[in-house]
Amino acid sequence: MATTNGTAVTQDEDVILRLTNVKKHFKIGGGMFRGRPLVIHAVDDVSFSIRKGETLGLVGESGCGKTTLGQTIVRLYEPTAGSIVFKGDEIGTLGPKQMRPYRRYIQMIFQDPSASLDPRMTVSSVIAEPLNIAKWGSKKDRNDRVRELLKEVGLNSYFANRYPHEFSGGQRQRIGIARALAMSPELVVCDEPVSALDVSIQAQVLNLMTQLQAQYNLTYLFIAHNLAVVAHIADRIGVMYLGKLVEIADARTVTENPKHPYTKALISAIPIASPGRVRDRIILQGDVPSPANPPSGCRFHPRCPIAQPNCAIEEPLLEEKEVNHYVACHYA
Ligand code: SF4
Repeated sequence: MATTNGTAVTQDEDVILRLTNVKKHFKIGGGMFRGRPLVIHAVDDVSFSIRKGETLGLVGESGCGKTTLGQTIVRLYEPTAGSIVFKGDEIGTLGPKQMRPYRRYIQMIFQDPSASLDPRMTVSSVIAEPLNIAKWGSKKDRNDRVRELLKEVGLNSYFANRYPHEFSGGQRQRIGIARALAMSPELVVCDEPVSALDVSIQAQVLNLMTQLQAQYNLTYLFIAHNLAVVAHIADRIGVMYLGKLVEIADARTVTENPKHPYTKALISAIPIASPGRVRDRIILQGDVPSPANPPSGCRFHPRCPIAQPNCAIEEPLLEEKEVNHYVACHYA
């Protein structure tokens, strides 16, 4: 991995996705008589790359921009600036029609399976929808594929003609996974795929995702606010704060040797699975500032327990502090 303009970008040939200085800003309001619009800096100058077959976990509090980034990668949003390269092709600037051939290779699993599955469609129609749009095979081929996918995700093919409301939350997420896999994608953006599920079901779905990844050599961008969940499944972890990537390294390094004060605070909130042992909890003061008016210098400085006067003025770049361990902090 090499540092490019203060960003963690891998130059390896097996990179499947490379983001360089990606921004996504939203303009709200404004107009002739209403003054200047408010600009929400949801994602600001984020750069990283993902190798084929790996899982990159992306964590951060609600509102840090991780979901917006995921939706920008699958091009539900148009990036405001920056480059998104998938398998060597720039897709960040493609229009809807030009993007169509790439859609089958980049799929998304959504957070809330109840909301992402159309209640009026049978499970069979939900899973077959991307196949129908792509005019994949004959009708019999598509029916066979639906049954095969149901089996892959641990559901009985007998369920194909039922409706989503007839399933539990975990089963609905399995249907969402089957739909995401229908077109044999290479990259799957998983947006909080287990956070709406009970803890016991979370483990089952995570195990299923790991098994499918090995079976199909899938690459995952796994977005979640729960660092413990991400640490369970990810090879590397990126930490976002207020639209910025503040730390990225392999999962073990981030969880055992975090360098950014924000990552340290997130880690301190994870319970230790050993009776009697507790971590020294770091309680951050104040709320996450508004992305419409992010703090100057280091965006974390109003809440940082070790902030120095220059932190409010100079923005820290994401730099390689140790081999393959990138941190955006003047004092890491
Ligand atoms: S740059 Fe300063 S404010 Fe930002 S995380 Fe580092 S010490 Fe804290």
